[in-house]
Amino acid sequence: MALIVQKFGGSSVADASRVMNVARRIIETYLKGNQVVVVLSAQGDTTDDLIEKAREISENPSKREMDMLLSTGEQISIALMAMAIHRLGYPAISLTGPQVGMKTNSCHTNARIEEVDGNRIKAELDAGKIVIVAGFQGIDENGDITTLGRGGSDTTAVALAAALNADLCEIYTDVDGVYTADPRVVPKARKLKDITYDEMLELASLGAKVLHNRSVELAKKYNVNLVVRSSMNGNDGTIVREEALMEKTMIKGVAYDKDIARISIIAVRDIPGVAYKIFKLLADAGINVDIILQSIGRGDTKDISFTIARSQLMETVDLINKNLDYIGAKEVNFTHDVAKVSIVGAGMANHPGVAATMFGALADADINIHMISTSEIKISCLVRWDEAEKAVQAIHERFGLAEEELE
Ligand code: ADP
Ligand code: ASP
Ligand code: MG
Repeated sequence: MALIVQKFGGSSVADASRVMNVARRIIETYLKGNQVVVVLSAQGDTTDDLIEKAREISENPSKREMDMLLSTGEQISIALMAMAIHRLGYPAISLTGPQVGMKTNSCHTNARIEEVDGNRIKAELDAGKIVIVAGFQGIDENGDITTLGRGGSDTTAVALAAALNADLCEIYTDVDGVYTADPRVVPKARKLKDITYDEMLELASLGAKVLHNRSVELAKKYNVNLVVRSSMNGNDGTIVREEALMEKTMIKGVAYDKDIARISIIAVRDIPGVAYKIFKLLADAGINVDIILQSIGRGDTKDISFTIARSQLMETVDLINKNLDYIGAKEVNFTHDVAKVSIVGAGMANHPGVAATMFGALADADINIHMISTSEIKISCLVRWDEAEKAVQAIHERFGLAEEELE
């Protein structure tokens, strides 16, 4: 008997007929003699709607109360799914994050899982039930409800698969698997048969929201057998694993992220220790910095620019403004008008000219590059916000990633 964790995203459970469809699919797996743990997201746009409700009340709601609010979306889904399975004549029980011992830190709205106590789930499975767990939510040491960040139900599923030592973790979504680019932006994007944890982690971190990046981190750490596939059809999905056995192409995909902003600190003194002061200040405030660019000094000053998550823009600008004297800088400026476009592929480390090809594609599309950052397996360029999709299309085309070009 195998233990299988199946996660269904918001669009897969958006209304009653989809809930019934998914229920049938779950029962199919159960009737093959498997133990089944199901993780669900909130239905359709529920989470966005809840955020909007909060905004109608307050510009800056308490993060603890946001978690209290947002966690309700998943609770609706699990109760409905348990009812659907009951109606079809099979045993099921819904459980919230706190009920399954999904213990997290107290970082409300972006909590990290610290420990999973799988005992309640195991007992229910042993009693022959299908167990339906609310994704995206946990409980901290004070007994308060937390959430794991947008898209966090994937992480719930992988964490449960790891804790229960599941044989397989299937992520069911509204596309057939992981593609060489978001198929909504590049209709000719190709579905990958497999992809390595490292490549998937980069793609997810660089904006391909088909998997939550923490879920990939956990899958790699605990060697979880992970598959992404469609909840609407029976097509083969994409296997995420240590080594890609079937996909040997150099570039695995193109991703983009529009949820970023750029900050520049102008006329910083050109002396040792300045970068340390700036980035220590940001680190202590829990602000994640991404691409960093330092200009060559002119006279005795230089400029330092970096990108951050758009949601942290104003708090970062405030922090720097308050510390201009301490840093030894003249002023700070910022813009929302940026997006990051990236290519990912473990093969690129051994291939010269990959960066040139990417920059050439952008040049020919008349897209200006504002910042560049590279690592062994990715290259990212900062472009204008409204040019992100065009940049993705141009790069995807230049690397010949579309279906027909590989055949
Ligand atoms: P779910 O609600 O099932 O969690 P998400 O909306 O979070 O679904 O993730 C699926 C979406 O991710 C797809 O609809 C697709 O538009 C987007 N996406 C972005 N990049 C990729 C990619 N490289 N491959 C597949 N889907 C991608
Ligand atoms: N419902 C949450 C969100 O919309 C979590 C998830 O879907 O994974 O972000
Ligand atoms: Mg998702």
